[in-house]
Amino acid sequence: MKLDATDLRYVTSDEFRVLTAVEMGSKNHEIVPLPLIVQISGLRNGGVNKLVGSLAKRNLISKVQNAKYEGYRLTYGGYDYLAMRTMSKRDTMHSVGNQIGVGKESDIYIVADAEGSEMVLKLHRLGRVSFRAIKEKRDYLGKRKSASWMYMSRLAAQKEWAFMKILHEHDFPVPRPIDQVRHCLLMEFIDAYPLRQVSDVPNPGKLYSDLMDIIVRFAHAGLIHGDYNEFNILIRRETGEPIIIDFPQMVSTSHENAECGFPNLVFRYFNRDVECIRTFFKRRFRYESALYPKFRKIVNASGEEGFKLDVMVEASGFGRKEMKVLEEVRSFHGSENCC
Ligand code: ADP
Ligand code: MG
Repeated sequence: MKLDATDLRYVTSDEFRVLTAVEMGSKNHEIVPLPLIVQISGLRNGGVNKLVGSLAKRNLISKVQNAKYEGYRLTYGGYDYLAMRTMSKRDTMHSVGNQIGVGKESDIYIVADAEGSEMVLKLHRLGRVSFRAIKEKRDYLGKRKSASWMYMSRLAAQKEWAFMKILHEHDFPVPRPIDQVRHCLLMEFIDAYPLRQVSDVPNPGKLYSDLMDIIVRFAHAGLIHGDYNEFNILIRRETGEPIIIDFPQMVSTSHENAECGFPNLVFRYFNRDVECIRTFFKRRFRYESALYPKFRKIVNASGEEGFKLDVMVEASGFGRKEMKVLEEVRSFHGSENCC
C-alpha cells in the first residue's frame, strides 16, 4: 500500500474531526454508524455526510454495510494518516520518502525530520495475512473482538518500542528508537545491508562469534530475540558491525507457557535462534564452529548483566497481558523463514 504524505497537508480540520470520530467509534464498533460519527465529532449532520464522502474517496475510511446497518470503518490508510499527523505535530517526523521494505507484517519507509535527516518508519500491519483465520479459531480478544487489526498492530508497535528503548539504553546493538504512535515506530536509519544480502565477509568467524555473543548477552539480560536470523540482522556498510532489528516476538527467559510448560518453549526459541545462525553460516560462508551457546548454561548464569530487561520492559507498561495477546497472533503467523 502506498503511503500518501501529500494527504497530510490536505485534510481539513473538520475532516480530521470526522476521521478521529471514526477511530474513536471503532473502539467498540466494527462498523461505526453514521449517527455515532456525528455525535462524537460534534459537527452538523449534513456536514458529516459530505465529509465522510470525501474521506472515503481518499481511502482514509471505507463505507461498509453489514446485516443490520451501514457505517464506516477506518482503513489502514486512515490509521497511517492519524499516526503520521501526530508525529508531524510532535515534530519527530516531517516528510515521507521511499518504501524500503514490505514484510509479512510491516511496511518500512525512509522518512525525514525537518532538517532532512533520514530515519526509518515501521508501520505494523498485523492482520494483513490471516487475521480472519485467527479470529475464527481463537477467542483471545474477549470483548475486544471489534478492535482487530488496529489493536493488534498497535500492540506490536508498543511492544517493539518498549524493547528497543530498553535495549538501546543498555547499549545493545539496535537502532535508536525515536517515537511511537499507534501502529507506527520511528527509529534511526541504519546504513546497512541485511545479512541475507551479504555474500562475503572478511572474517566470518569473528561475525559468527559476535552474533552468538549478542544472543548470550540477550539471555543474560533475561531475553530471547525469537526471530534471530539473516533477515533481522543488519550489517553496517562502513564497519561491518551487526545491528539487530525486529522485536515484536521477543520473549523473556522466564516466560511461562501453560501449553508447553516452562522451560520447553524458551528452550526451543533459544535453540532456534542459535541454529539459524549456525545453518546460515554453514551455507553462506562455509563456516562451522564446534562452539555455540547452550541454553542451560546461560540460564544458570542469568543475571550476569546485572539487570533483568524483561522485568524492566514489564515495568515500562508493556505488561504480561498485552504480551500474551500478541503471542497468540504470532504463534498463528509463524516466524520468518530462517535460512
Ligand atoms: P518485519 O517485521 O516486516 O520483518 P523488520 O523490522 O525486520 O520488519 O524490517 C524489514 C526490513 O526493513 C529489514 O530487513 C531492513 O532491510 C529494513 N529496515 C528495518 N529497520 C531498519 C533500520 N532501522 N535501518 C535500515 N533498514 C531497516
Ligand atoms: Mg524482520
